[in-house]
Parts: sequence; structure tokens; C-alpha cells
Amino acid sequence: MTAECKWCGQALILDLPENSSEFEVEEAMVNTCNCVEALRQRQLRTAAREAQNNVRELCLNADPQSGLKPCDERVTGIAEDAIDLMVQRTLNEITIKMPNKGTLSVKLSSGGKFTVQRKIQRGQKRESE
Ligand SMILES: [Zn+2]
Repeated sequence: MTAECKWCGQALILDLPENSSEFEVEEAMVNTCNCVEALRQRQLRTAAREAQNNVRELCLNADPQSGLKPCDERVTGIAEDAIDLMVQRTLNEITIKMPNKGTLSVKLSSGGKFTVQRKIQRGQKRESE
């Protein structure tokens, strides 16, 4: 199919069927166009995938020595969805508080850098379940 780049308006030939979703079209644009914004989006999406890997790493493979317990996979799903929204600049930051499991926060800086943090809140009891 053909489409105009969302950012620079250049006509692009995308290797996609006509009935592709808006999301698929945008993804293809990002990977096809060479304009500054498409390149910036490409870098942001690469950083987002790394942040999503970090979320899974920090939450599902929590080190027992650190006192952090693994979180529910549905919780990491929320954080991963939030990162997708950050790529679209619909969201800048999310903090998820879990009972006895501390907090998980993800932040996107204006420079396009993701920060993923997992913390035990001060004064929180470390009880076993
Ligand atoms: Zn473009």
C-alpha cells in the first residue's frame, strides 16, 4: 500500500495489505521514512522495547536477596501497555503500588529516555505470603 508519512508528508510505499490497522501503518512508516521525526520515533520505539524488557526482568525475576517479590504478570502487562502509551506521548509516567511488593514506576523523559524502577516503600513490612 502507499501512504503519506504522518510527520513529513512524503509518499511512502509500505509493504502492508490495504486493510492494515492504523498501528501497523504507523509502525511501517517509522521503519520506512528517513525524515528526522521517523528516525526519532524509531529510536523511541527501540528504547520502549528495552524498557519493557527491563520491566519484565525487574518484576518477574526479582532477586529474593533484594527483598522484592516477583509481581503478578498482569501488573507487568499494565506497565508494558503504559510504555506503549508513552511512545504515543499519551502518558509520561506511571507508578504502580502493590501490597507488600513495593512500587514499580516507569517514566519517559522529554529527551526520550525511559527509566524503570522497582522499590520497596520506606517503612513497609516485608511479610511472606
Ligand atoms: Zn517522514
